[in-house]
Amino acid sequence: MTELRVAIIGGSGIYRQSFIENSKEITLDTRFGKAALKEGIYQDRTVFFMARHGGGHTVPPHLVNYRANIAALKALEVDAIIATAAVGSLRREISPGTRVIIDQFIDFTKQRPLTFYEGEEGFVVHTDFSEPYCNEVRAAILKAGKSLGQNVIDGGCYICTEGPRFETPAEIRMFMNWGANVVGMTSVPETILAREAGLCYATIALPTNYAAGISTDPLTQDEVLAAMEKEIPEVEELLKASITEIKSSPACYCREAGKNYPGE
Ligand SMILES: [Zn+2]
Repeated sequence: MTELRVAIIGGSGIYRQSFIENSKEITLDTRFGKAALKEGIYQDRTVFFMARHGGGHTVPPHLVNYRANIAALKALEVDAIIATAAVGSLRREISPGTRVIIDQFIDFTKQRPLTFYEGEEGFVVHTDFSEPYCNEVRAAILKAGKSLGQNVIDGGCYICTEGPRFETPAEIRMFMNWGANVVGMTSVPETILAREAGLCYATIALPTNYAAGISTDPLTQDEVLAAMEKEIPEVEELLKASITEIKSSPACYCREAGKNYPGE
């Protein structure tokens, strides 16, 4: 058993991590269903990898079993989660190829299970979201990105839509007025559930394109995946460096936030 346990949740385009050594496939049964992932080693850390949309990209964003995924990582006693998310950029200055280490979200989802706390505990739990993403994991990614010379942006607001359709130009104009910087379909409820479970969690948002109305070209899923394909080697370098930057005793309140987590 190594000291620190770090999980990567790979978004669109990120289905495997070749740097994870001695990896084996594992499946966990949670009370929300099964979660499949890989477990291995990178340097002195135990590393887990989970493909959010499945290895063959078959699960659409609104049907991802976020609760099973996070419950599995909790059961595996993960210390920190680094997620990736392909996003559309709402700002000209956030060009494809930058990495936005988001620090806020706006929830524009409509019908997903959003919480572990469904009242079965016999009391109501309202979780603090003053810092929606773990600042310690964010700092580790930012430090790693800067040391690699990658274009990392410290902070940004992610608006999460229900999908699976892309957004309309009218929606994008509204999201821009609301202060969002990037748009995607997965960070909610993933980040909410991680915090409810007391797990440190941060997301590397990877802009693959400009959103509708900013770009005049129609958006296609193939275009998003082709853009991600080009990014994979650099994203992998960023993930490796970030894993080694994560501290074993972080000065954040994520773990404390999970004290009411109902368990399995
Ligand atoms: Zn934390």
